[in-house]
Amino acid sequence: MNRPYTIATLGSHSALQILKGAHDEGFKTLAVANRDTETLYRSFAFIDEVIGVDSYSEFPSLMGELEKRKVIIVPHGSFVAYLSLEEHKKMTIPYFGNKAVLDWEASRELQREWLTKAGIMMPRQFKSGAEIDRPVIVKLYGAGGGKGYMFIRDAHDFEKRSKELKKAYTIQEYIVGVPLYIHYFYSPLQDRVEIMSMDRRYETNVDSLGRIPAAAQEGMDVSPSYVVVGNQPVSLRESMLAEALRMGENVVKVSKEIAGPKGLFGAFCIETIITPDMQFFCMEISARIVAGTNLFIDGSPYSYLNYTEPMSTGRRIAREIKNALLTNNLRLVLDDSSRL
Ligand code: ATP
Repeated sequence: MNRPYTIATLGSHSALQILKGAHDEGFKTLAVANRDTETLYRSFAFIDEVIGVDSYSEFPSLMGELEKRKVIIVPHGSFVAYLSLEEHKKMTIPYFGNKAVLDWEASRELQREWLTKAGIMMPRQFKSGAEIDRPVIVKLYGAGGGKGYMFIRDAHDFEKRSKELKKAYTIQEYIVGVPLYIHYFYSPLQDRVEIMSMDRRYETNVDSLGRIPAAAQEGMDVSPSYVVVGNQPVSLRESMLAEALRMGENVVKVSKEIAGPKGLFGAFCIETIITPDMQFFCMEISARIVAGTNLFIDGSPYSYLNYTEPMSTGRRIAREIKNALLTNNLRLVLDDSSRL
């Protein structure tokens, strides 16, 4: 390919994976980095250009300059953290993904409607502390990476601890099981969902409590927290793979009914907890590349089944854009607001 487009992203989250993948697929690459991270991104040979900004919130002001070049933006988790939904929608620069899905992802209520329509089980939601009749997890809105989440045993426990809650929150049934984050890719060109990889998060201190016997915990002032500090690769019991794939396919199918004909495409992740009767409960869906895919920059056991070369999620995104360009279908993989 004669490298007509540059793939650009913010310098954080999964930028290295996205840009390495873009480079391997023959694109030029650009990172917008802040003063702290500029040197890091400049140190990699596969990144052709780095634009330094004082703060990521300056990103929208770069649009004029980026539009002059043939740039395609690949968003990741930090876009959601640094740019508001309105700012996302205002951008007319070519954008990989469907922005209509963002509204469905941003609201816990709409997410629930979407996932339930897709036949996916979700933990029960409680409207108030008084309704609590089982162990719950209290989740703060906008909390990144499980920070500030609380495990609550019952309504009485909630009453005692609710004064610690300074931000808006939701109360969700606590599912006892193992967490599994499934990374998918939906290709609109091939109308096909692929499982790219899977991970589990390594969370402090909930993942260490099992190392202290329950009897010894009694009287200790320790309660679980859910702060993510890392990710571990997982392969799923093969008999459960068909269900995992079905969930991904159903989520895509329903997204086309609720978020415009293009629906959800590209990378996404269903965050699940699996109970002892092997039931998947979905905690949340992320409608873009998630940081857990960084474990698989060199590919995963699952991507190896589909590709005999290293295929990260970042590279898969670039491959889709490349295939769209080669078949004159670029619009199919960009948000409708994209000005080409
Ligand atoms: P991010 O937005 O970065 O994905 P988050 O802040 O939305 O993270 P979640 O993924 O919703 O956080 O949850 C963080 C952790 O809390 C999970 O990995 C899991 O350990 C625990 N958790 C969340 N919901 C439940 C639940 N219903 N039952 C049991 N544990 C839960």
